[in-house]
Formats: sequence, structure tokens, C-alpha cells
Amino acid sequence: MSNSRILIVDQTGQLGGGELSLLDFARHRRKDCDVLLFSDGPFRERLEQAGVSVAVEQGANDVLAISREQGLWSSLRVVPNLANLVWAVAMKSRRSNLLYANSQKALVVCALASVIGRRPLIWHLHDILTASHFSAAMRAIAIRLANWRASCVIANSQATADAFAAAGGRRRAVVIHNGIDPAPFSNVDAEAAGTELRRQIGCGDSPLVGVFSRLAFWKGQHIAIEAARSTPDVHVVLVGGPLFDEQAYEDKLRREADNAEVRGRIHFLGFRNDIPALMSAVDIVIHTSIAPEPFGRVIVEGMLAQKPVIATAAGGALEIIEDGVSGLLVQPGDAGALAAAMRAILASPNERADLACRGYESALRKFSLEACLAATDEVVDVTAGKSARRRFS
Ligand code: UDP
Repeated sequence: MSNSRILIVDQTGQLGGGELSLLDFARHRRKDCDVLLFSDGPFRERLEQAGVSVAVEQGANDVLAISREQGLWSSLRVVPNLANLVWAVAMKSRRSNLLYANSQKALVVCALASVIGRRPLIWHLHDILTASHFSAAMRAIAIRLANWRASCVIANSQATADAFAAAGGRRRAVVIHNGIDPAPFSNVDAEAAGTELRRQIGCGDSPLVGVFSRLAFWKGQHIAIEAARSTPDVHVVLVGGPLFDEQAYEDKLRREADNAEVRGRIHFLGFRNDIPALMSAVDIVIHTSIAPEPFGRVIVEGMLAQKPVIATAAGGALEIIEDGVSGLLVQPGDAGALAAAMRAILASPNERADLACRGYESALRKFSLEACLAATDEVVDVTAGKSARRRFS
């Protein structure tokens, strides 16, 4: 272990993929990191349970209320609040020799704080910086701050790194895919999990598929409901909650699920902490994002649960699944293709088992948690070391 002490900053207390990936890293570096969040929530609790030193910076509400689609001028009203936040982070960073921003708004605050605190900055980029995810103003701010202050950018996929460069990012982007611990997936009693879930939702022996993503329009749960219209015997579990102000989308999904063609076959399970058991309980894991997925942890998790996975062919999913070998890919937004792929897998138990087996082996090989943590350690320690050498030379 190194002498680096890291101040990690993340804007949310909710458990999205970026936060779950950070949870693994912070647990691994718990002796030499502090985490600062801009809002409270289950992420703070999980960090504490993992023995990580964590604090919540109050008074960030204005800054958090800026949406991804917001323009420049309307964002300026948060300047006084932002200044306080920057000062607080700069003061906290004095205990550390490195700032590590794990989200977009954390980057804004950390970039400015790194000037006052004179600390090097790493930005862990978990988002694809394109028009389908962020306004032009939000992209421009992030890119300029990263080019100005970040010593290094960690991108969670090549797709994320390419979008960063295409948006004008000039900093070195190191691609480190998320690693996922396979143990929780292999420790599950799949038969018992299947029996329990089927009893809970009352689907009998019908084929069962699952989407395991927070409810958000771009995650495309409506495509799963549409696909269920042309697969009349299939039941669908939607696992995930509307984490980031997506209540209106959940309401819309619930209305669609009440349509006569699918009524009784779409089951909303909300946000769950037992993803390995739930994935083991379904016949197919489906991923339905209609915009490029930055990485797609759920795809790897489905493979580790030894389930056939159908994912949409864009972004990070293309780096995870080899179509027809370790899973199936369909075009984003194509409910007909998704339904056809589901039918093909359900009709052929051998093909189903082969896909699941090859997917499992590929996920074990390509997405090891140890390799991911070691690669992140290296970036952190090299960045902190270089900065220390500059300061003392
Ligand atoms: N997840 C969870 N509970 C849920 C739904 C999802 O713990 O009810 C987890 C899921 O297992 C995965 C993460 O949330 O680890 C989502 O990560 P992904 O990269 O797929 O999407 P993101 O949230 O980053 O867009």
C-alpha cells in the first residue's frame, strides 16, 4: 500500500452504478481515503458499513438541483452556494494529497477546490458525454474543467473515453472497466431464489425475464414492456427505482403495464439490494438502454449469475458482449428484435445454457474486481507520487 491519502467526492447519496463501483474502491482503500458526499442516502450507509470514513456536506442543494440538460445562464444562480462548497472541499482536501471526483458535479467542485487546496485531481468518468445524456453547456463546463485541472481521467469504457475525446477532452483518459466480485453470484441457491420470486409475483412456471436498472427513460424499460406484448406468456420483473427524479417515468411505465395485452405480467420490484438472488431467479437478464450505456454493470452481473443476457448494441455493452458468443445484442429501441431474441433463447434450452456458460467464463476473465482495483491503485498512486515529486523538487 502507498502513502497516498485520497479525498473522494461524489454528488449523490443514491446507489447508481458509479457509486457501487466507488464502494468497492473505497472499501479497498478504506485506511487511506475519506469520502465526501453532497447528499445523504443509502450510499452513505453502505460506505459506513464497509468501514470507510464518510461525511455529507450539507448546503449543496442548489448545486445538486442543476439538471444535466440545464443551460449556462440558468446555472449561474448557484454561484454563491458553489463557492461555499468549493471552500469546504478545499479545506477538507488539506488532509489528503489527492482529490478524486467520482461524478460530474463533484468534478466542478473539485476542479475549483484543487486550485485553492493545491492538490492534484483525478476525474473518474462514469458518463458518456454526448447530447443524448448532457446539454451542450454541461458538456462544455465539464470538458474545460477537466482539461484545465484533471491530472488524469479514468473512463469506465472505451466508449466513455471516446466520447470524452470527441467532446474536446484533451486529458489522458485511462480506460478501466468496472470489475465485479463474482462471489455473491456464486453463493446464491438459484433454485430457491427462483421458487421464492415466482411465489412472490405469482407467475407460476411462465418464462421470466428481468431488467435490473434504475427507472429512467434512457434505460428503456418501456421497450421491455413493448416486447412483452408480442411474447404473451412471458413475465417481466422491473428491478430498480426512480433514483434521480424519474417519478414521472415510473408513472408512465405503470400505466403501460396496465394495458390489457400485458396486464398482470409486468412486476415492479423497486430498488433492491439482493440483485444476485433476483438475477439467479429469472430465465433471461435483459438490458434495454436506448442511449449508449457508459459501461453497464448489470450486463456483467447477469453473466456472472450464469444467465443468458440480451443487451442493446451501443456504448460499453459492445465491450462486454460478443454477439452470439457471450450473449446477444439487439439494436437500441427495437422491441421487435428484443422479443425475437427472447423467444429464440426460450425455445432452445441448449443454446440458453451455452450462452450462459460462455458469458460466465468471459465475465470472470474480463471483469475481475482485483484487476480493476489494481489498475485504479496504479493511477491514484502514480498521480499522487508525481505531484509530490513536483512539489519537493
Ligand atoms: N442495482 C441495484 N439495485 C437495483 C437496481 C440496480 O443494486 O434495484 C445495481 C445493479 O446491480 C448495478 C447498478 O445498480 O450494479 C447499476 O449499474 P449500471 O452500470 O448497470 O448502470 P448505472 O446506474 O451506472 O447507469
